[in-house]
Amino acid sequence: MTAFSAVDLRRMLSRLRDVMAGIGAVQERLDKVVALIAQDMRADVCSCYVMRAGEVLELFATFGLSQKAVHLTRLRVGEGLVGEIAAHARAVALADAWSHPQFVYRPETGEDFFRSLMGVPMLQAGRVVGVLVVQTREERPFNDWEVETLETVAMVIAELMAAAQVVKREELFETEGNALLPVRLTGVSLHAGVGIGLAVMHKSHVRIGRLVSDDPVAEQHRLHMALETLRQEVDALMDGAREDTVGFRDILEVYRMFADDRGWISRISEVIASGLTAEAAVQKVHDDTRVRMMQVLDPVLRERLQDLDDLANRLINILAGGTARIELPENAILVCRSIGPTELLAYDRRRLKGLVMEEGSPTMHAAVVAKALDIPVVAQVEGATTRIDAFGTIVVDANAGQVMLRPSEEVVDLYTAAIEARTKQKAAYAAVKNLAAVTKDGMQVSLSINAGFLLDMQGVIETNADGVGLYRTEMPFLTLSSLPDVNAQFALYRQVVAEARGKPVTFRTLDVGGDKIAASTASMPEDNPAMGWRSIRLTLDRPSLLRQQLRALIRATAGKELRVMFPMIAAVSELDAARRIFDMEIEQHLKAGGEAPAWIRIGTMLEVPSLLWQMEALVERVDFISVGTNDLMQFMFAADRGNTRLANRYDTLTPAVLRMLRYVADHCHKAGVQVSVCGEMAGRPLDALALLAIGYRHLSMSASGVGPVRAAIRSARLSDLEPFVKQSIATGQSSLREKLRAFALDHGIAVG
Ligand code: PEP
Ligand code: MG
Repeated sequence: MTAFSAVDLRRMLSRLRDVMAGIGAVQERLDKVVALIAQDMRADVCSCYVMRAGEVLELFATFGLSQKAVHLTRLRVGEGLVGEIAAHARAVALADAWSHPQFVYRPETGEDFFRSLMGVPMLQAGRVVGVLVVQTREERPFNDWEVETLETVAMVIAELMAAAQVVKREELFETEGNALLPVRLTGVSLHAGVGIGLAVMHKSHVRIGRLVSDDPVAEQHRLHMALETLRQEVDALMDGAREDTVGFRDILEVYRMFADDRGWISRISEVIASGLTAEAAVQKVHDDTRVRMMQVLDPVLRERLQDLDDLANRLINILAGGTARIELPENAILVCRSIGPTELLAYDRRRLKGLVMEEGSPTMHAAVVAKALDIPVVAQVEGATTRIDAFGTIVVDANAGQVMLRPSEEVVDLYTAAIEARTKQKAAYAAVKNLAAVTKDGMQVSLSINAGFLLDMQGVIETNADGVGLYRTEMPFLTLSSLPDVNAQFALYRQVVAEARGKPVTFRTLDVGGDKIAASTASMPEDNPAMGWRSIRLTLDRPSLLRQQLRALIRATAGKELRVMFPMIAAVSELDAARRIFDMEIEQHLKAGGEAPAWIRIGTMLEVPSLLWQMEALVERVDFISVGTNDLMQFMFAADRGNTRLANRYDTLTPAVLRMLRYVADHCHKAGVQVSVCGEMAGRPLDALALLAIGYRHLSMSASGVGPVRAAIRSARLSDLEPFVKQSIATGQSSLREKLRAFALDHGIAVG
């Protein structure tokens, strides 16, 4: 196995290709393949273990070990050296395998004669599908080049075996008993909703037609042409060729970084030099990177894997001449291990009824996009890509974080009915969207939406909301390593204002930290980040951040209304400090000859209970107050808002909360300060009714809440509602949710 050159490797790869492409049963061809590898690599043994159902590696073909052991020797993942290689997707090269503590002796193989062992994982699309091993009789070390050679060979065999369907996908269902029985998979809901459709595997794996090439120079040329096309594609996306990707500039920036990464490109070139086609080389480097990154514990870094997947797939697609766009059936549920945001945007969203992922987290870019497009998402579904049949019917119940495979007719009927009812309801909301949110006895309520991405801005028009009551400016920047400069922020805010089409937008300054840690601001780990150095505390300590943001906002709203709101204010002195910074920026803007905003309204979020005892001072200082009930509830009840165990423990409709909210509203009314609620409760019909009854006339919510809340308000009579809620608050101690629901039903109020 010495002095094995790149030329030798190329020769071996083309011989392998010929054998696999030849005639004969798959087993026969595999037998020839292992013999060929052993011969070319001058080894005494070459064995191929294949992953079977239940995470078991089966000796599938061997040259050198006893033929009796073929299909008999089985090792669990993690068992023995072979199992170890599969478990960690890492190569092992040992001069003396017998002395290794993980070595397991299997007498049926006749391994007694072989001392050294080199094994590598067979990877297909980043997944271990087998292990390829060579052994020699005498004790001998292996060098890096030999390991790399075997890795390249293993990758080629994995691809060829996948094409020949050596292991049928159906086999993986074995552990679930009868493959025809319904199965329920559980995961984590990233965006609620229900969808039924045919499972479509998201580029489950771009099948690479040509793996081996005899002309590395031509392949290098193809790679560089493809990289150029890739760069152009990303640039086109960045230039906002599609209007809904403009908000994702930050995400696309990451792509450009990879696409221009010298290390990445030179590694691909090296693999091409060893005899693979450009597309196979991209796949191999990507598989290697993926395996390495999977071992990294840092979740932020691991999340970037999705971007890398996205990019590698794009590049392979370009090289393979494929089209990035897959035609979806009428109702499709996309199934993937993970997906990049641009990949998701490439699908026809009208046909996309759900998304199921094996990986994924709430902060991943695709989840953010799915939310904006209102596609139900269930993530972290173990084995989704292997257990779900392509084009089989599946139900995604993202309300419960479940996916139903091979659902029974009753289940499909049940969910279909639920979806139909929901669709009807949506249509009903759409039909009245141009009617005012006014109660039967004439009380008008202003309904706005909460937004954070440009994509969300469509909601203003779609729901005919009165504006944006909360624009979370931190959202697009959460994954960046540094905040964008004034010009970039200015361009974004100007677009937000344009998309609001003359309706008011309340911009909240950066609310980073806590559960919204931006890489740019992540500092020392804190025991209680939600109560830590976050939001206004952070921006007051780093005034340049706040100043730049305010400057961009002032410029973006020249000649128009500017509404600025400060988050997490706990003391009026913080508001004063923020205000001073704002005044300074306005002054400088005017001095520099800039046009001033036509009106300026300064407000604060009320989400820290300490402000309740500073109301007099507070109302003197602001034009409006927006109550952030999400945080206010968390601090009032000392209950982490992200803790699912506490999710339903404290209700917003308990008299304690309503009394407190009424206190705030009363103070504001007396002082003539506009008051609104922009926490999640504002978007729930029952809660909205209660808020109406205690004096709130401005509500801001996610766009999906506007229709239901408008319907509830239009069907209610304030003169009935007010005394009922007042009485319930005065006499009760526990939540009035059920009482209020019964009241709504009795009075014909639409509460969903
Ligand atoms: C809130 O706390 O209620 C709020 C609206 O702000 P966020 O959810 O962004 O913290
Ligand atoms: Mg908040």
